[in-house]
Amino acid sequence: MSEPVAAGGKGMKLHTKILVGLAIGAVLGITANVMLGADNPTVEWINKYLAGPIGQIFLRMLFMIVMPLVFASIALGVAGLGDIRHVGRVGAKTMAYFLITTILSATLGLVLVNIVRPGSRVDSTVRAELLATYAGDAASKVEAAQTGSFGIETLVNFVTRNPIKSAVDMDMMGVIFFGLMFGAALTMITAARAKPMMDVLQALQDVVIKIVEIAMRIAPYGVAGLIFGVTSRFGYSLLVPLGSFVAVVIVGLLIHALVTLALIVKFGAGLSPVLFYSRVRSSIVTAFSTSSSAATLPTNLAVAEQNLGIPRHIAGFVLPLGNTMCMNGTSLFEGVTVLFLAEVFGITLSLPQMIVVMFMAVITAVGAAGVPGGSIPLLVGILTMFGIPGEGIALVLGIDRILDMSRTVVNILGDLSGTCVIARSEGVWSAADVPKTVGDMDLEAKLDESPDWPKPAA
Ligand code: ASP
Repeated sequence: MSEPVAAGGKGMKLHTKILVGLAIGAVLGITANVMLGADNPTVEWINKYLAGPIGQIFLRMLFMIVMPLVFASIALGVAGLGDIRHVGRVGAKTMAYFLITTILSATLGLVLVNIVRPGSRVDSTVRAELLATYAGDAASKVEAAQTGSFGIETLVNFVTRNPIKSAVDMDMMGVIFFGLMFGAALTMITAARAKPMMDVLQALQDVVIKIVEIAMRIAPYGVAGLIFGVTSRFGYSLLVPLGSFVAVVIVGLLIHALVTLALIVKFGAGLSPVLFYSRVRSSIVTAFSTSSSAATLPTNLAVAEQNLGIPRHIAGFVLPLGNTMCMNGTSLFEGVTVLFLAEVFGITLSLPQMIVVMFMAVITAVGAAGVPGGSIPLLVGILTMFGIPGEGIALVLGIDRILDMSRTVVNILGDLSGTCVIARSEGVWSAADVPKTVGDMDLEAKLDESPDWPKPAA
């Protein structure tokens, strides 16, 4: 829905503008890095007073509506399902889908990293240089990982003690749980009593999606600012020695998206993968440019409904849940990174240990927040579990942005394909329901005509 939420100017389409912003930011950043150097006062000034603030304002505009959006979408999604037993069945199917696809992607990553073994290619001088550059950043991530342990308490913490506090702390799980309870309870009171609250939730969802529309209008500039910040600091030199690690992650993500998920879409949803991918372009571009599943959620909801024809009560349930719980790309990235860093630090993992890595990658991908770098603290947790120095994460931090952008795309693709599979299995949707003619411009026009979007599905 980057287009629908963000009907851009008259000329260029919004996602094209965002890509242009990305390209301009990257070229200027690399040029500044190469010609002037990262510590040049002008480059620092630009990062501090121009590129940084623009990028941050754009991200904050999106983050400020994430919690109300998640709450309203989940509550409306559950309430829309009506019958509580229905919630149970759809919920169980959704969870099974999340689990299976995440295990598949993590396993794919581990197989690839074992074949290519990128860890054997990083030379020791480069390693020392990277570790020195990121020692500070890495230390704070290691600290974050130590305070956020996972285990039985993760399960208990899912049941929030205070939903407002969860929202303040950006604890998506807590807000999701509260939303689930809220929506379920709405189905248990009389329809007449539930209606005013449903109307409020609907209005809340409409309002926050409108704010996203406003935010997306500044996306091209925000994205340019964010990318300038990264490239002016590191140029492209750090990319070179880590090239094969990056390649393994990217190739793995591509295989998962273009083979595994394509097969799931074809056989699980009965939909042509080519049609699927052409209909979800807006989500891909938004995920790639924001590196955030959470920020892509509004786009996903609109894409599922308007471009794929998925009934709102299914999309509104599966997508917000999948947003934080189903991270195919993140689990693949985590598996690859753990084995890569183990090799860099000379630690050999046995097959059973690799299976544990796979499970940890799956669990932590469920727990990671859908924000840029959301999985990094959890990743550090896995590293320390296997005696790999947590600081090793420093090696990947410099190039994490591009990996983050790419894995976020796969994260949201997994959510969207899951929505199709679940909708079809419920018998409420089939490939024939995909609108024939919805193009970007149509969507924009449709939105402009109907300021009260989104309306309840028929
Ligand atoms: N940026 C990712 C997302 O939002 C999370 C992560 O892997 O860091 O989906």
